[in-house]
Amino acid sequence: MTVPLIRDRSPPAAGPHAADAAFMHGAIALARAQMGRVWPNPAVGCILVADGQVVGRGATQDGGRPHAETVALESAGPRARGATAYVSLEPCSHWGHTPPCADRLIAAGVRVVHVALRDPYPAVDGAGLRRLAAAGIAVSLGLGAAAARDVVAGFFTRVATGAPLIRRVRPAARWPGRPEVPPLGFDALARSLPDGRTVRLTAQIPFARARDVTGIAGCACCERGADHAAGHDFDLPLGEGGDDLRFAMGRLGLTRVAVRADDPLAARLARQSGPIGDAPHAANGPSGDPLTAFRRTPPWP
Ligand SMILES: [Zn+2]
Ligand SMILES: [Zn+2]
Repeated sequence: MTVPLIRDRSPPAAGPHAADAAFMHGAIALARAQMGRVWPNPAVGCILVADGQVVGRGATQDGGRPHAETVALESAGPRARGATAYVSLEPCSHWGHTPPCADRLIAAGVRVVHVALRDPYPAVDGAGLRRLAAAGIAVSLGLGAAAARDVVAGFFTRVATGAPLIRRVRPAARWPGRPEVPPLGFDALARSLPDGRTVRLTAQIPFARARDVTGIAGCACCERGADHAAGHDFDLPLGEGGDDLRFAMGRLGLTRVAVRADDPLAARLARQSGPIGDAPHAANGPSGDPLTAFRRTPPWP
């Protein structure tokens, strides 16, 4: 499907467009800082610029709502009129719990929208770009695409396959006393329990946040009102441990799941449903504490 009035553009090295690339990378940094906290939605960042100044910024909030564009538009207020928006993923075009972000950008009077990536989610998939263009907004697609794709790789995998992206992480030696913490940028850590029949998923946000999207009950820890500083637990039957488990995690809404390399689950998943790649070095917590590393302030443009 072709999208009218949209052109691909790679980040230019110099000249007036260098500022565009810097603002887009700022939006991507906002998205990156929310990785692991927004499933079942993708982590998105948005920056609004007027007269060369940042007037609004936002990222997808915990549990996936509100969306980045809404947060950025609210922070900009009337300064959004005539502004240029930099968004790391195509603005949504469908009514969910709130009006679509494409409509909000149009209503706010944004004049130019740079989008890094088209959203493959079937309810969007180019419709957000077309809606903006039809409203007379100048739209570009592709600025910062490679960096933006890294942030939403788990979401894209779940849209394409129904299962989350699964990556091996180094054993817990770097997280003394907190082996259950999901590592940097992951929605959840999956580990096999000693009973040999159960996989425990530990996530940074309550499973209840995804409940109205996935229809699956929330985590027992939140129902009990327990304090879970280290994460929220949800148990799944191990079953055959291969594709069944992958798709069960996908139905929960998880987009990016870590398995420790020393957990028998890693070998079992690999044996039954194909090789599992290693997480990038950063996911293993460069500071020794994945949560500290995870929450560091992104660089602003
Ligand atoms: Zn949206
Ligand atoms: Zn909980």
